[in-house]
Amino acid sequence: MRQYELVERVKSYDPSADEEALNRAYVFAMKMHIAQVRESGDPYFSHPLSVAEILTQYHLDTATIIAALLHDTIEDTAASYADLKELFSADVANLVKGVTKLSKVQIHSEETKQAENFQKLVLATSTDIRVLLIKLADRLHNMRTLHFCKKPEKRYRIAKETMEIYVPLAERIGMQALKDEMEDWSFQILYPEAHKSIQSRLHFLSEQGKQDVETVINELKNDLEEHNLSANISGREKRPYSIWRKMQKKNISFEQVCDVMAFRIIVDSTASCYQTLGIIHTKYPMIPGRYKDYISTPKPNGYRSIHTGVIGPLNRRIEVQIRTKDMHAVAEYGVAAHWEYKEGVHKEGKQYRWLRDLLDLMNHSSSPNEFLEHTKIAMYQDQVFCFSPKGDLITLPRGAGPIDFAYAVHSRVGDTCVGVKINGKIKPLRTVLENGDQVEIMTNKNQTPSPEWEHLAVTAKAKACIRRFIRAQQYEKNLILGKDYFNNAAKEYCISWNEKELQPLLDQYKQNSVNDFLAAIGAGLIPFKDVFNQLHPDCIPSGFKRAISLFKKSKSDTLLDKKMPVTGLISGIALKFGKCCHPVPGDAIVGIVTTGKDVTIHTQDCPTLTQYQDESERWLDVDWNMSVVQDKVLPVKIKIVLEDRPSSLTELTNIIAKHNVPLTNLNTQSRSNGFSDIIIEVEVKNNNELDVLLQALRSYKHIATVHRMKA
Ligand code: MN
Repeated sequence: MRQYELVERVKSYDPSADEEALNRAYVFAMKMHIAQVRESGDPYFSHPLSVAEILTQYHLDTATIIAALLHDTIEDTAASYADLKELFSADVANLVKGVTKLSKVQIHSEETKQAENFQKLVLATSTDIRVLLIKLADRLHNMRTLHFCKKPEKRYRIAKETMEIYVPLAERIGMQALKDEMEDWSFQILYPEAHKSIQSRLHFLSEQGKQDVETVINELKNDLEEHNLSANISGREKRPYSIWRKMQKKNISFEQVCDVMAFRIIVDSTASCYQTLGIIHTKYPMIPGRYKDYISTPKPNGYRSIHTGVIGPLNRRIEVQIRTKDMHAVAEYGVAAHWEYKEGVHKEGKQYRWLRDLLDLMNHSSSPNEFLEHTKIAMYQDQVFCFSPKGDLITLPRGAGPIDFAYAVHSRVGDTCVGVKINGKIKPLRTVLENGDQVEIMTNKNQTPSPEWEHLAVTAKAKACIRRFIRAQQYEKNLILGKDYFNNAAKEYCISWNEKELQPLLDQYKQNSVNDFLAAIGAGLIPFKDVFNQLHPDCIPSGFKRAISLFKKSKSDTLLDKKMPVTGLISGIALKFGKCCHPVPGDAIVGIVTTGKDVTIHTQDCPTLTQYQDESERWLDVDWNMSVVQDKVLPVKIKIVLEDRPSSLTELTNIIAKHNVPLTNLNTQSRSNGFSDIIIEVEVKNNNELDVLLQALRSYKHIATVHRMKA
């Protein structure tokens, strides 16, 4: 096709087309592709030109035709989005950019069940319906020339992709002719043997049956003319792929499929369609189950026609489609052809009407705004489609991140997720995924879900899995805690105990199992003392309480040891500092009698204390003996969330050193989102010194959070 022919073609259906811009696009695309050759040996420019030509059949607007000419320039030549925007228009540049983006959608997976997701991905990526139309025309031309491709596996992949993604999309928007052609090209490559055999038998049959077809057409014509109906009747060529599919689907032979001759009757009006149907049904016996009225109930893609099957002339089974010219045009070219017959003349602005019809079909959005506004596809904008490294497509709600992706793959993958690579690069777990992202979840079998993930996750599945895990983990902790209560009590009262003795109490406490019971006690939902008293009523007034009273400071106590680090205790008992809260001088503290001989000092806000809340007899009022402790140092644990930077750890240790505080331990737990959890242990003289250090750490800009650990 020559330059002037293309322009003429566009002008024939759109007299207002921008001739100058079309010419400029033609020349520009030819120049940009000048050095490139197709596998067929043709100059590369023959491809975009053919794509533009295909689209003129659908009477598309100038911007689409120009974009078709330019559709490979961003991807394959030096031209950029900015160039196209400057030389043509933002509209054209956006269309080309859209097609370029779409070209990255490729099926790598063998999973056929993914096809529907891919179709959605294509629709979601298209955003403008014209992008999809250019892509379909592009694909059609590539299919026509696919036999030139030298790599068999590439040929196969492209044919499969066409069959699974583009054929259904073309069908969905009613582009029957385009769909049929793509389907047969794909069939030929995917099943070469079947195609060859069906093709040659079809050829034989049509040679042999020519006479019969003529006879039937003439008879039917006569039948209609008797009723003053003029019609255009033709024999319908069967397509190899549709025969093959019928053979597969109904498990029947080639002969059985082709035994039925197919005809198409085109009449003037809808009324004539029904009249024709009446004439045929009156004269010939109808084959039950073959009658379908797509005129009164059109297919979702706009297809309208009457189908019926009868035992017709020559006693042959025939299949008949009855429709008007208008309906026929829609059946072949989709809604594209629709308006042309309806409107008769091209009034300004009507060019896009079919696009609007098409979009109505697709999104049911029909606010009467600007035409081009309407070329936006609003489908699947609430979803995001991402690939696994194997090429599987995972559909997630918009806003989803790697955690959601991981759980969508498998809950085990989610539970052990430590990091993510998106399009080959390590990214934070809080990254929001985008259409077409390739997502690789990194796992470590020792990893467990972090409670923070619950805030990152968007999908119900991920949230549920994280919660379930946290609950299970909590349950384990509570179970151990519950057992500890009994073990400690047993030790203190010198009795032996067995989990089984809880069994008889299950009903009373509405528990399903001994473990549930112990976990409920551990969680503090059931007071330990109640259960213990019920099981061992004798133990209550034991020597335990008396032993405790011995430790308690009485007002008249003169035995107070001046050398004890805390006041309020008598001498001679073993004093420990809680490993949980690491109290330091200056902290408000409390003493807890742990065994018969020890007292442990906790800070008054230590979370561990909750487990003693029902046992007031074990709590001792104590305070720091400052004269004893002022020269001593005590350990403290601090948790820091530090940004991952090459020098940040060094700077952190510098801050600590500057404060003259000995650093005794440093533990890094790397996280994947650009931050690390660091736990340090330092030794301080008192909580003043500690506060100064914490303040200094907090003011360092690459530290996200700092807190003293108390559990
Ligand atoms: Mn192309």
